[in-house]
Amino acid sequence: MINSLKNFAICDDETKASVIVINSCTVTNSADSGVRNYINQIKRKNPNAKIYFTGCGVTTQGEALFEEKELTGVFGHSEKEKIEELLASNDRFFTVGDLSHIDNTIVTEFIGKSRAFIKIQEGCDFECSYCIIPSVRGNARSIDEETILKQIEILAYNGFSEFILTGTNVGSYGKDKGSSIAKLLKKISLIKNVKRIRVGSLEPVQIDDEFFEILNEKWMAKHLHIALQHAHDDILESMKRRNKFKDDLKLFEKIASHGYALGTDFIVGFPNESDAVWKETLKRVALLPLTHIHAFTYSKRDNTPASVMTNQVKGDIAKARHKELTNLIKEKNILFRKSNKVPLEVLIESDLSGFDQFFNKMQIVSKNELEGNWITLSEYEIKDEKNIAHL
Ligand code: SF4
Repeated sequence: MINSLKNFAICDDETKASVIVINSCTVTNSADSGVRNYINQIKRKNPNAKIYFTGCGVTTQGEALFEEKELTGVFGHSEKEKIEELLASNDRFFTVGDLSHIDNTIVTEFIGKSRAFIKIQEGCDFECSYCIIPSVRGNARSIDEETILKQIEILAYNGFSEFILTGTNVGSYGKDKGSSIAKLLKKISLIKNVKRIRVGSLEPVQIDDEFFEILNEKWMAKHLHIALQHAHDDILESMKRRNKFKDDLKLFEKIASHGYALGTDFIVGFPNESDAVWKETLKRVALLPLTHIHAFTYSKRDNTPASVMTNQVKGDIAKARHKELTNLIKEKNILFRKSNKVPLEVLIESDLSGFDQFFNKMQIVSKNELEGNWITLSEYEIKDEKNIAHL
C-alpha cells in the first residue's frame, strides 16, 4: 500500500499526521477491540486528522466504525492499490471492494537486505471452526506464475538469493490454475542466483507425492512449517480440521527421515480440551519430530462456529498448557541441533545473525563486514535459543 502512495510524505508521529490510515487485523476479538481503542485514542490526541480504515477488519466491523467513529473513509484490501485516489477524495466513503480480487503488483517485504518475501496467493478454502480468515480474505486464489517468476528474476538479478513464499494458505497455490506449489517451486529453482527457497506454511493434506519428489533438492530449505493445530482427533474434529493425528505422525516421520526440521502451529485450550485430553495430547506431541512451534492459546472469535461451543477452557489453564508445550518443543529443538551437527549454511543479515537451512538462528561474532554473505559453519556453540559462531 505504501508503494502506491506518491503524493504523501510518511510521518513517524501519528499525533502530527494530517492523514492516518489504519491497516487492521481481525483474527481475534481482541484485535477488533484494540483497533477501536486505537481510534478513540487518535481522535483524542489528533482531533483534526482524517482517519481511514482498511485491512481485514473492514468486513467484520468496517461499517460500524464508519458510522460510530465518523471515519473519513473505509476501504477493503482490493482497493489498496487505489489509495492515492481514495485519499484525494473530498467526500466520505465506504467501500468493501471485491473479495475475489488479487493484487498483481506483487508485494515484497524484506528482512534486512538479504531475504525476499514473495506473496504467491491470497485467501483460503478451508473452514476451520475457530477461524474468521476465509470470510475476510475470500477463497484461495493464486497470483499468475509469470508475475511471480518475473518478480523473483528481478530480485535475484539484484542480489537476493533466498526467497520465502507467503500467502494466506500457501499450499493451495495453483489449485485454481491447474498447477501446484511443487511445480512453482521447481520453476523458481531454475532462476539464476536462487540458492534457497522456503515455503511459508503448509497444511498436512497438501503434501503429496509431487511435493515429496522435491524434498531432497539442494535449493529446498531443510525446514517445513506444517500447521497441525492439535494432536487429539476429538479436538481436530471439532476444529473442523482436515488432518488426523495418526496420518500427521506418519507424515512428519517421513519428512524428518529426509533430514528436515519441522515446525507447526498449535492451538491450546480449545473448547473441550479436558485434563485427560491434554495429557494425551502432550504424549502425542512428544512423539512428533517437531523442532519449532508457534503455539497460541485459544481465543474466542465472534461469528465463528467455535465461539458458541460450550466447555471453554479457563485462561490460566490454557496459559499453563502453552508453557508446557513450548518447553517441550524447546527441548526437542536443542536435541535436534545437538544430534544433527552438519555444516550449517547461513545467509547473514545486518545484525550479523541469520538462519541456517533448518531455520535455527545463528549469531556470528566477528569484526568483519558479512551482511548478505552465505557462510558455511562447522564450528559453533549450541545455546538454548540459538547457535553462536566466532569468525
Ligand atoms: S487453514 Fe488456516 S486460514 Fe484457512 S481456515 Fe484454517 S486456520 Fe484459517
